Amino acid sequence: MTAFRTRFAPSPTGFLHLGHAFSALTVFDAAREAGGMCLLRIEDIDTTRCKPQYEAAVLEDLRWLGCDWPEPVRRQSEHFAEYHAALAQLHSKGLVYRCFKTRREIAEDIARAPHHPGEGPEGVIYPGPSQPMSADEEAERLETGDAFSWRLSITACRDHLGADFDRLTFTETGEGPDGETGEVRARPETLGDVILGRKDVGTSYHLACTHDDALQDVTHVIRGLDLYFATHLHRLLQELMGWPVPVYRHHPLMLDEHGKRFAKRDQSLTLRALREAGETPDSLRKRVGL
Ligand code: GLU
Repeated sequence: MTAFRTRFAPSPTGFLHLGHAFSALTVFDAAREAGGMCLLRIEDIDTTRCKPQYEAAVLEDLRWLGCDWPEPVRRQSEHFAEYHAALAQLHSKGLVYRCFKTRREIAEDIARAPHHPGEGPEGVIYPGPSQPMSADEEAERLETGDAFSWRLSITACRDHLGADFDRLTFTETGEGPDGETGEVRARPETLGDVILGRKDVGTSYHLACTHDDALQDVTHVIRGLDLYFATHLHRLLQELMGWPVPVYRHHPLMLDEHGKRFAKRDQSLTLRALREAGETPDSLRKRVGL
C-alpha cells in the first residue's frame, strides 16, 4: 500500500469552476509532494443531478489542468449494492432507523423537541422522533409502499459505543473554521440524526464517501472547509464500521470578488470558459494562488 494515498472526489452536477480547480490542484499537488498518489472518484449517487456530459467534462478539464490518476476511476453509481450492504450492517446493529416523515413532519418534531435543537453547522438538526415508530405502524407503512429514508440514531450510537463515543478524535493537518488543528475531538452529535440512506437512492454522500475512502485505502483526505463538519460524522461511521481513519486536511474555500463561494451558476468562471478565454493551466494556477 502506498504510504500517501489521497483522492479528488467531484460530483458531476455541473462544469468545474475556479474553486474546483483550486481544490483539485491542492489535492493532486499534495500527493505529488508526498511521493504518493491521488485517485479520482466520481461521486454521482445523485442520479438526477449528475449527468454523463458533466462527468466527461470533469475528466477533460482535470486532464487539461495536468492532473493524472490511476484507472479505473471509481464511479459510485455503479456500486449502490455495496453502500446498501454497509447500511444493512448498521441496521443489524440497531444504529439506523426508517424515517417516513415529510419535511413538514420533521419541522414539527423539531418544534416539539424539549430542548430546541436549533441550527447545527449543516443546517437544522433533526434530534430524532419523540418516540420510535411502533413495529406495527412500521410494518403497515412498508406494506403500503411508503417511501422512507434511513437515519443514523445518535442515541443508539452512544449506547453502542459507550464512553468511547466521547473519545473519538481525528487528526486535522489543516485548520477547522475555528482554527481547530492537530488532534480534534469528533462531535457527531452536533449534526443530529443524519440521513445515511436517501429515499431515492438508499445511500448518502456521507456513507458512500466514508465507505469508499476505506475501500480505496485512502490515507489522507484533503477537501474543502465546507466538509469540515461532515468529518465529525465520518469519524463516527468509521468507528461503527471498523474502517481505518485517514488523516484530514481541510483547505480554505476560494471566494469570488464578492467574498462568496463560487457557485455553479458562475458560468464565466468554469474551466471551459476560462480555457476558451485564453487561460492556460499555468496562468490558472497563478490565478488561484498556487
Ligand atoms: N463529492 C464531494 C463534493 O463534490 C466531495 C467529497 C469529499 O471530498 O469528501 O463536494
